[in-house]
Amino acid sequence: MKRITDGISKSLPSGVRIGLVPTMGALHAGHLSLVDAIRPHCDVVVMSIFVNPLQFNNAADLARYPRTEDADAALAESAGVDLLWIPSQSEIYPGAAELEEAGWLGSAFEGLHRPGHFAGMLTVVRRLFELVNPSVAIFGEKDLQQLALIRRMVDAHSLPIEILAGPTIRESDGLALASRNRFIKQREVAARLPAALFHLQGSSKPASLRLAEARSLLTAPLEIEYLELIDPLTWAPISDDFRGQARAILAASLDGVRLIDNDLVEIR
Ligand code: AMP
Repeated sequence: MKRITDGISKSLPSGVRIGLVPTMGALHAGHLSLVDAIRPHCDVVVMSIFVNPLQFNNAADLARYPRTEDADAALAESAGVDLLWIPSQSEIYPGAAELEEAGWLGSAFEGLHRPGHFAGMLTVVRRLFELVNPSVAIFGEKDLQQLALIRRMVDAHSLPIEILAGPTIRESDGLALASRNRFIKQREVAARLPAALFHLQGSSKPASLRLAEARSLLTAPLEIEYLELIDPLTWAPISDDFRGQARAILAASLDGVRLIDNDLVEIR
């Protein structure tokens, strides 16, 4: 594996299909699963690690975001990354960045609780695409709204990049792996989040009733921000007469850590 800081354009081989796995580091098995998933779709796997200040709407969250560069490099190498790129601020943002538009979906759900987050996220993803020029890029379903917004951006700008989605990798108790999980103290309480998603899936009751029951599982010390059932095509909350594949999406805080998760819910 080649590891570089700045100068990605000089390090890229030409005439091959490049696959990009963007991350903010503090790598875990969820990130590594994306490397496995993209490999059959490209010749060279590039992983980026960049903690993007533009997408942090909370300065304390940015300051304490885990940075574990050497451990990340060892994990990336073991996962078969060909080129690990850890750029500086000035390679990504040589001047003032022009923010991408996140549209109405950028201000809903996560966007409502994290103003500016999605515009900042789209801005860095667009910049990573510009610098790496990948044929294919992969993102986790764990961040479902992020994935939807990236697909919308690619369509809006007609970018010639195939976007793949990787399934959410979970701990044995169901908690979705996330770099911020290391800050959770009440680990057993966090497992109520996947339990609430599981409860939604196992029920045959009307959507509104399922939601009320699942919300009642998310009690203190969890601070729930939202738990909704949405139509994944429109992102509109579903009504009780919806039939088909809905998505349950949720966000909650625990021990000062924001946790998000989602899963498919079949409504017959
Ligand atoms: P991050 O480093 O948190 O920005 O995440 C980088 C990429 O890894 C994003 O596409 C995330 O959606 C994805 N990712 C994060 N956690 C998981 C997980 N538990 N399973 C699968 N993909 C994940």
